[in-house]
Amino acid sequence: MSSSGTSGGALHRGTVRETGGGVYVVALDSGEVGEASLRGRIKQQARTGSRVVIGDRVEVSQVDGVWTIEEVEERRTELVRRGRGRSAKILVANLDRIFVIVSLREPRASTQLVDRLLVLVESSDMQPTLVLNKMDLEDTREAAEAYAQLYRSVGYEVILASAEAGTGIEELEARVCSGSSAFIGPSGVGKSTLLNAIAPELGLKTGALSRKTGTGRHTTVGSRLIPLACGGLVADTPGFGDVGLWALPPENVAACFPEFAEYTDSCRFRGCTHVHEPDCAVLEALAAGEIPQSRYESYVRLREEAVEAAKR
Ligand code: GDP
Ligand code: ZN
Repeated sequence: MSSSGTSGGALHRGTVRETGGGVYVVALDSGEVGEASLRGRIKQQARTGSRVVIGDRVEVSQVDGVWTIEEVEERRTELVRRGRGRSAKILVANLDRIFVIVSLREPRASTQLVDRLLVLVESSDMQPTLVLNKMDLEDTREAAEAYAQLYRSVGYEVILASAEAGTGIEELEARVCSGSSAFIGPSGVGKSTLLNAIAPELGLKTGALSRKTGTGRHTTVGSRLIPLACGGLVADTPGFGDVGLWALPPENVAACFPEFAEYTDSCRFRGCTHVHEPDCAVLEALAAGEIPQSRYESYVRLREEAVEAAKR
């Protein structure tokens, strides 16, 4: 055995699969899974903001059967949500893709909500796929087509789905069964039902069941990355639905609207906010119908929120 570990034992690389209550379940690259605690030095760092989260790549020492996380590797990606106060809260590290799930009815999506979720993902430097669920419900066809047309026109991949009728499940499966993913969206849109349709072995609680007491096997408030039988990993994290303000500098909001990109360099003023300036190329594109009205309205609203948040 080598003695490269800082505390004497050999170091093993792995991925954090579950967190909660100070315990970290780590899946080592060798296939072994066990519970680890954090080395004090890392705990210190965690207190100052950079917590260890699911998806983190770590180095673990094993001494007398006790597992300790010694190092956390640099992250490829971070899904960030604004926490209390001004601090950003990192939810999941190293995800390969994020699905933004909304439903066409019960609850009915709005462009404001969709844009807010898309911006959340964009601000984490990740590429979202939009999933419109509950296509089986009556009078959803028109809205589904309008949303699909709008969001495809600005460059997003859109999947029309019904967990109930089995629509879109194969398309989701093709993307979820490799790498690691997260489903984000408001509660009640069908995230758990869709996951159960892809991977029945999960047996996740869904809206109808979760109102009863004691139905769930997993009653922890922590987060987990769930391995699917088909090969991928899916994040299950409380708080994905609740998308509040986030610690996004106001000047970064425009970059979260990919369809603005081809215009922003042509504005007369550097640092143009695209709200009131003369010779603003974004406003001109809006007037010419090249940027959808609803997207621009979301931009203005989210930018205002970011300005307010930055004042606190
Ligand atoms: P979550 O909070 O996003 O995980 O939502 P759930 O998966 O718990 O689903 C909320 C409710 O919507 C449950 O009563 C589901 O049965 C229902 N639901 C989920 N997907 C569909 C769907 O495609 N069509 C219909 N009609 N109902 C659905
Ligand atoms: Zn401008």
